[in-house]
Amino acid sequence: MKPGLGSDRWRVEPGRHLDLATRDPGSTDGAPGGHAETDAALPALHEELAHLQDRLWAEARRSLLVVLQAMDAGGKDGTVSHVFRGVNPQGTRVAAFKEPTNIELEHDFLWRVHQVAPRAGEIAVFNRSHYEDVLVTRVHELITKATWKARYGHINSFESLLVDGGTTIVKLFLHISKEEQHKRLDARLDDPTKRWKFRPADLVEREHWDEYQVAYEDAISKTATDHAPWYVIPANHKWYRNWAVSCILIDNLRGMDPQYPEPTV
Ligand code: AMP
Ligand code: MG
Repeated sequence: MKPGLGSDRWRVEPGRHLDLATRDPGSTDGAPGGHAETDAALPALHEELAHLQDRLWAEARRSLLVVLQAMDAGGKDGTVSHVFRGVNPQGTRVAAFKEPTNIELEHDFLWRVHQVAPRAGEIAVFNRSHYEDVLVTRVHELITKATWKARYGHINSFESLLVDGGTTIVKLFLHISKEEQHKRLDARLDDPTKRWKFRPADLVEREHWDEYQVAYEDAISKTATDHAPWYVIPANHKWYRNWAVSCILIDNLRGMDPQYPEPTV
């Protein structure tokens, strides 16, 4: 197996409390260089990712689940399109989690999530996830403290179930600064191709920035496990974020080392 691409640098150590204030969202630590040099490193990474995905799909036994979480304008959509550049749409899947429907609310919070977990051979990306159920619901007091506290354990058990079934789980928190969010929300208003993404509710959410940071710190600290690790990615620079995400996915897929099946004839 090839040596790693250094994704441990972003990995959250299980059992320790995460302090986001000590993580610089503008960091470019470990990058091959500045913007241009780092972009130049991407084609080789895209090629390797596509190759590993092909092997995973052909092997058809295991799967990869990538959980994407971030504050509004944190870069989730951009990361999804980046990650899937050059991979075969057959065998990949994106699930975006919006506010739960009435039917979803009549079930436990993991019901809708389990249904879209990756099948054998697939790479699935969750654009938002079951973590919203301990983040937005906590910040807006849609559930009691006892409920969100109990959910960390449910999440760890659920993820452990998926891992036992052959899924590798990679959880990515795209870490941006409050200033960077401001810039991006402003840009959404100015740019007719981005304005559709802007919702007045984003400004209300922004008022809760500090509460969200605390909710993220707790959620990540309580669910950063060996079986389903969290990575905190400095994401003020999109070029750095894209490179880091590629490195993490490739490191995990190299670790899985999927194999083309033996011919049956
Ligand atoms: P977006 O990702 O910008 O399309 O927005 C989706 C919205 O759905 C966000 O405001 C989320 O906070 C919200 N959302 C997603 N999952 C949940 C959930 N489980 N409970 C409440 N709101 C949610
Ligand atoms: Mg949004």
